[in-house]
Amino acid sequence: MDLMEYQAKELFAKHGVPVTLGTVITEASDAAAAAEQNGGRVVVKAQVKIGGRGKAGGVKLAQDPQDAVAKAEEILGMDIKGHTVRRVLIAPAADIAEEYYFSFLLDRANRNYLCIASIEGGVEIEVTAKENPDAVAKVAIDPQVGVDEAKAREIVEATRFPAEVAEQAVGVVQQLWQVFVEEDATLVEVNPLVRLGDGTLEALDGKVSLDANAEFRHEDHASFELVEDEDPLELAAKEKDLNYVKLDGSVGIIGNGAGLVMSTLDVVAYAGEKHGGVKPANFLDIGGGASADVMADGLHIIISDEQVKAVFVNVFGGITACDAVANGIVGALRKLGDEETKPLVVRLDGNNVEEGRRILLEADHPMVTLVDTMDGAADKAAELAHDLQNA
Ligand code: GDP
Ligand code: MN
Repeated sequence: MDLMEYQAKELFAKHGVPVTLGTVITEASDAAAAAEQNGGRVVVKAQVKIGGRGKAGGVKLAQDPQDAVAKAEEILGMDIKGHTVRRVLIAPAADIAEEYYFSFLLDRANRNYLCIASIEGGVEIEVTAKENPDAVAKVAIDPQVGVDEAKAREIVEATRFPAEVAEQAVGVVQQLWQVFVEEDATLVEVNPLVRLGDGTLEALDGKVSLDANAEFRHEDHASFELVEDEDPLELAAKEKDLNYVKLDGSVGIIGNGAGLVMSTLDVVAYAGEKHGGVKPANFLDIGGGASADVMADGLHIIISDEQVKAVFVNVFGGITACDAVANGIVGALRKLGDEETKPLVVRLDGNNVEEGRRILLEADHPMVTLVDTMDGAADKAAELAHDLQNA
C-alpha cells in the first residue's frame, strides 16, 4: 500500500523524524481556519498517490488565509496524472535553504536494502542520476545489521551532507531507518529533505510504501486505507474478483497469470518507445478463467478507462485452452456490443492455439487484430494507441 504524503509524515513523526504535520482538509472553505492554525503563510499541497505534484501545479504557496482558500479551490478537484485531488494538506510555508534527496528501499535484485541519497534534491532523482551521477550516493545495507550509528555516518559521508547538518543527518537517517523497518515498508523516500533557514533539517515531503504481506502485524495501518479514493474501476474489478491495476499510459492490457501480465507490461513499454513513448494504461489478470463472462467483465473495465486507446489481450492457453479463450473473446464482444469501440490486438498461444485462432478469424470482428507473436502484438497495440492518441 502506498501512502499519501500526510500519512507518510504521520509515520515519520511517530519515529521522531522532524516534520510539520499541518492540517488536511477536503473543503476549500476550511482552508482559512487551517491556514490560521499553521501560521498564516502556508503551502497548500494536493494529496494524491503520485509524484510530480509540484510541477503539475498541485503545490502552491499562499500568503495569508484568504489566499489559502483561493489556492485550495484551485487544487481541490484537480486531475494530476489521472488522480483526482480530494484532499489538500495545509502546512506552514517552510523557509528552505537547501533541498536534499533521501530514500531507503528494498533492492530485490541484490536481496538487500539500499539507501539512495543526494544533496541535489527537490528534482526527480532519476534526472539527477542521469545528469549528475556523481551526486547520487548508493549505499547497500546488510539486512542483518541494519542502519546503526556507524552505518548512518557512512551514509552521511557518502552523500556529502554539508558539515553544518551532518550531525543532525546522522540522527535523521537512523530515524528514517526505524520507519522503514518498524513499519515494514518497502520504500521510504523523502524528497525534499530540507535544510531550513535556521539550520535544522526537516522532511518536507514523504513517500512510503508499506509491505502488504506484513499487514497482519500493523493494525494501525488499516486507517490509511481510504476507500473513497480507490479508483472506481479498481473497485469494480475487486467486486468481480479480477486483479486490475490502473497505470498511466494508453494501452490496456489483459492477460492470464501474473507472470505473463508482468512481462506483457515490459514488452508493451519497450514497443512503445518506437511509437512516441506509448505506455501501458492498466492491466488486468483474468487468471485461469477466460469465459465469455470473465472476458466481458475484464474488457468492460479496461475500455472504461478513458486513457485506454487500444487493448492488448495476451493469453497463453493452458488448462483453459485457446479455443475456450477465443470463444470467450467472441462472446465478450457480442455481450459488449456497441460499447466496444476500441481496437483489440489479440495474441494467443499454447494449448489448442490453431483452433483458437480459427475461431477469431472466422468471427472476423472489425475491431480485432490477431497477431501471432507477443512482440509483434505489443508493437501493433502500441502503434494503434499512438495513432489514436494523436488522431
Ligand atoms: P512533489 O512535487 O509531489 O514531489 O511535491 P513536494 O512536496 O516535494 O513539493 C515540490 C516542491 O515544492 C519542493 O521541492 C519545494 O521546492 C517546494 N515546496 C514544497 N513545500 C514548500 C514550502 O513549504 N515552502 C517553499 N518555499 N517551497 C516548498
Ligand atoms: Mn517531492
